[in-house]
Amino acid sequence: MNVEFFGVRGSMPSPGKHTLVFGGHTSCVRIKQSNGQQLILDAGTGIANLGNELLNSTQPIALLLTHNHWDHIQGFPFFKPIYQADRDITVVVGDVHDNESRAAVLDQMSGSQFPVDQHDLPANIMLNTTLAKQKEFTLNDFVIRTAPLNHPGGGTAYCVYADNCKVAYVTDNELSPPGTVSTTIDEWIEFVSGADLLIHDAQLIDEDLPLKHGWGHSTVNQVVNLAITANIKKLAFISHDPMRCDAELIAIENTLNAEFGDALTIECAREGQTILLDKEA
Ligand SMILES: [Zn+2]
Repeated sequence: MNVEFFGVRGSMPSPGKHTLVFGGHTSCVRIKQSNGQQLILDAGTGIANLGNELLNSTQPIALLLTHNHWDHIQGFPFFKPIYQADRDITVVVGDVHDNESRAAVLDQMSGSQFPVDQHDLPANIMLNTTLAKQKEFTLNDFVIRTAPLNHPGGGTAYCVYADNCKVAYVTDNELSPPGTVSTTIDEWIEFVSGADLLIHDAQLIDEDLPLKHGWGHSTVNQVVNLAITANIKKLAFISHDPMRCDAELIAIENTLNAEFGDALTIECAREGQTILLDKEA
């Protein structure tokens, strides 16, 4: 199984000299298993580049959305397969709190927000607003388990199983939020436990608190604690702050690996990066 990062930023795209190493596109990850089946996680602006590649195949597309915040859906109108006649595209919408916003990924394609209307798209787009409510389902030969995000507006985290591997994709998520908790820390430990790769939101550093407490993101230290407790060996941060420059992200990696490197490898995910998970069945 391999995991490719097409966008790793949170909040908003951040092109510029300060993001040349880690990239500026918002969240999009593609997981491919050995039989060729694929799954796309989130439709941030990174999905546009992935779409160009997928134009060359007729394979049905499966896209899992964690939630509907802009940085997770804003690439969808620029995902070229939606303009291919009869291309089958299944979109699983994260379990967000507001029923009215469940179709946001398509509703953003209206005359006022985007020039092409969703009803004029030639692809066969199937929006599924119920699958993410299930604890487990199967899509494109992947077994997928879910957990509710601790994030304003709600959403869904996914654990993806194939090729005898497990990848946990948890973003955007606040591990220690104020008020009501959708998923407790013990439940997160159980959810991600045994994952060959944990991809987790780590938009914040300790200095961002207390201002950003309750904004729905975790600190790098909170995520490392989760990973160590859950016996994770490979951890990738995602949803980097758009203002966090390359030098700062490299410093975070170096500091954490110096302290915790005996227990696990920690990296800030990079746009364009592929992580190969190779495990014998
Ligand atoms: Zn969000």
